[in-house]
Amino acid sequence: MPRAASRTSTALGTKKKAADDAKGNHSKRQKNARHSWADGLYKYLDDASDPAVVYADDEIIAVKDMYPKAKCHYLVMPRDRAYKSIKDLTEDDIVLLERMEAVGNRLVCDNNENGDPSLEYRMGFHAVQSMNHLHMHVISQDFDSECLKNKKHWNSFTTTFFVPIEEVFGALNAGASMDFSYRENRLKDALKCHRCAKAQANLPRLKEHIASCSCNPRRTEGSY
Ligand code: AMP
Repeated sequence: MPRAASRTSTALGTKKKAADDAKGNHSKRQKNARHSWADGLYKYLDDASDPAVVYADDEIIAVKDMYPKAKCHYLVMPRDRAYKSIKDLTEDDIVLLERMEAVGNRLVCDNNENGDPSLEYRMGFHAVQSMNHLHMHVISQDFDSECLKNKKHWNSFTTTFFVPIEEVFGALNAGASMDFSYRENRLKDALKCHRCAKAQANLPRLKEHIASCSCNPRRTEGSY
């Protein structure tokens, strides 16, 4: 019986899909799926008991990035859903940003004490977010991760597409635009080492290079 039930529901599912496709609902379904994926960070805002949560107070929550692009990679977020992206930040939010930075620093200190103290970190935001809700990346600069799979991933953390928190403070203090979307083209930049800037033909080559790059880590402004 369960088999028959499962066959029926599969058949119905297929029939519904075929009917939807015929009506042109295919792209709508795809769009909804994309939308729900992009809303994935909201679940943490109300549920600090989620195992991914590494820090929570009334105002801020921090989680482990589900697809970490380095040995240590966290996302620090305000719990207030009104903040969709950095475009929503104003001068009035400098205190909030300072608190987010303090949480980031605390995570870095915890890692230095309990993990690998040789890791360097940067904190900042992507010029264009893929996930809804404002989130600040706290990411170690080893980029040693299987989740770092393509040029877009690499360039999103190593070009000006990554907007360091210091730059966000500067822009807020100066009353400058918080729209950094004009940097989206940086994702197409040629692959190069974030330390010595040497160009690399492809991502596997780049990964080999960074594992053995003898250059001193570039202590760029905004690395910790
Ligand atoms: P971005 O929106 O480009 O600033 O980056 C979004 C980050 O969220 C990426 O580093 C993803 O690996 C991460 N991510 C995607 N889905 C989840 C999730 N459900 N929980 C935690 N991190 C996620």
